[in-house]
Amino acid sequence: MGLFDVHAHLTDPRLAACEEAVLARAEAAGVTTIVSNGLNPADNERVAALAERSELVKPAFGLYPVDAVVLRMRELGVEYAHREEDACHPEDALAWLAEHLEEALALGEVGLDRYWVPEELWAEQEAIFRRLIRLAMERDKPIIVHSRKAERRAFEILVEEGATRVDWHCFSSKVKLGRRIADHGHWLSIPANVARVENFRRLLETARRDRLLLETDCPYLAPERGQLNEPANVVATVTLAAELWECDVEAVQAQLSENFEALFGVPP
Ligand SMILES: [Zn+2]
Repeated sequence: MGLFDVHAHLTDPRLAACEEAVLARAEAAGVTTIVSNGLNPADNERVAALAERSELVKPAFGLYPVDAVVLRMRELGVEYAHREEDACHPEDALAWLAEHLEEALALGEVGLDRYWVPEELWAEQEAIFRRLIRLAMERDKPIIVHSRKAERRAFEILVEEGATRVDWHCFSSKVKLGRRIADHGHWLSIPANVARVENFRRLLETARRDRLLLETDCPYLAPERGQLNEPANVVATVTLAAELWECDVEAVQAQLSENFEALFGVPP
């Protein structure tokens, strides 16, 4: 039985700057597996190097849906803060993933984003998403999905493509749709800020328990606004689940460990 964070960004400069302390606190909190998600080839390389350094960290390689079209956004003059080293051509990113996905636990973070990305690029973004889904299915890897402001469309595409091993990270649309996604057989990872976000709390309380996982999206989505999030914070989600499910913490952890293994094929 283990404790895990399926969606962390440990290579974010804010966390990388205190990597040892963050990992030590995670370990002290009982965390046994952190899936660090990559955003583009340069970031995937950083994730791979980190996973080499730390036993706790398992790599997920991805192409963030904004990064997938960031050069096109630039052409269109759309404002978006982006590190130059992370700007990549989607064909190069797809080629990188085709070459390296075998070394990862999962494909992620990938998906659709209609918050930052303007409508004229949605079709291009979807075409890239479909190619990523097919690659993951071909290599038998689970997919960790970002779906900001595009949840329904992402679900349609994943169902059309026949993807079954899918974790929805930070699912923020209607609770009813979230439950439908879980009933369909996909997993939902509940962020560590669940105590202050009603939707996450309701999902944790009412969605199929065998389809729930833990995540932080650190350094984002801290339990306390304005703080830096980190994997150790998943512990509070387990405590809250025990309250909502009216069972002890061990039973929650046992259920969540089982869920992790069902999706990723290895225990946390
Ligand atoms: Zn993320």
